[in-house]
Amino acid sequence: MRYLWLGAGGLSLKRARDAPQGGESEVLVRVRLAGICGTDLELVKGYYGFRGVPGHEFVGEILECRQDPDRVGQRVVGEINLGCGECEACRKGLKTHCPQRDVLGITRDGAFSNYLGLPAENLIPVPHEMSDRRAVFCEPVAAALHILDDVKIDQASRVVLIGAGRLGQLIAQVLHLTGCSLSVVARHSSQVELLASQGIRVGDEDEAGAFDVVVDATGHPSGLELACRLVRPRGTIVVKSTFHGPAEVNLSQLVVDEIRIVGSRCGSMRHAILVLEGSRIDTESLVDSVFPLEQGIEAFQRASQPGVFKVLLDCRI
Ligand SMILES: [Zn+2]
Ligand SMILES: [Zn+2]
Repeated sequence: MRYLWLGAGGLSLKRARDAPQGGESEVLVRVRLAGICGTDLELVKGYYGFRGVPGHEFVGEILECRQDPDRVGQRVVGEINLGCGECEACRKGLKTHCPQRDVLGITRDGAFSNYLGLPAENLIPVPHEMSDRRAVFCEPVAAALHILDDVKIDQASRVVLIGAGRLGQLIAQVLHLTGCSLSVVARHSSQVELLASQGIRVGDEDEAGAFDVVVDATGHPSGLELACRLVRPRGTIVVKSTFHGPAEVNLSQLVVDEIRIVGSRCGSMRHAILVLEGSRIDTESLVDSVFPLEQGIEAFQRASQPGVFKVLLDCRI
């Protein structure tokens, strides 16, 4: 089998002679497609100090499932958080906040491999009509949708999104579906063109203190600074960026203006499948290129270029 390995010296392609076995409690999945996201690029830079196989956005097929052999051959996407099942967070259904959680491709070996293992309950079936190229977007679409779990956004809301990269584009489309008044701060011409083709307004960087909700998806500390400038008093800043190192903010301004800051991470994969099935969210325009896993290092180089959207890895070859 082949896989990408993140070690002390960076990312490398490795080979092992044997395919892994599915365990008693885990299901063996053959990975079909996997997506490279901003978090993967940050992991390579040292975010979380992870050593192992990265990759948490994938679609694959079940190869071995001892608990339910009928599921063999099923096409699936995966909930990436694994909880202990016993703590208070897990009992409340919040395994994303289990203190002992394991996260695919972030704390445990992930999807940039021919094979991966996950518990059966984490594997969600993909509808027959949905292509692999669309299903591989479930994880970031779930992350985009999760904003709406925590913040009320409707037709009356003035919303600005800062950052229109691979996750930002999906967030823009999800916010656009709510009917809110949305504008996006985008840096690259490819980002602006794609937003314009979807009827999403670009600009409004100068309207200080004008927005009910500001979403930061820049993946960069500067995003929060701009968010603080654009949000109105008693407004909400949603932080979607994860990056290596701290960010500087003027806390006094946040206190005086009574700003709410909401951190936002993973969402429901089942919900994402329903939305991808039933909406016109455009994922195809976001596919920049597909590299075989064998050329995974080149794929990462491509994904780290400015203005490049989703680079996919075909993990079968
Ligand atoms: Zn991601
Ligand atoms: Zn737990």
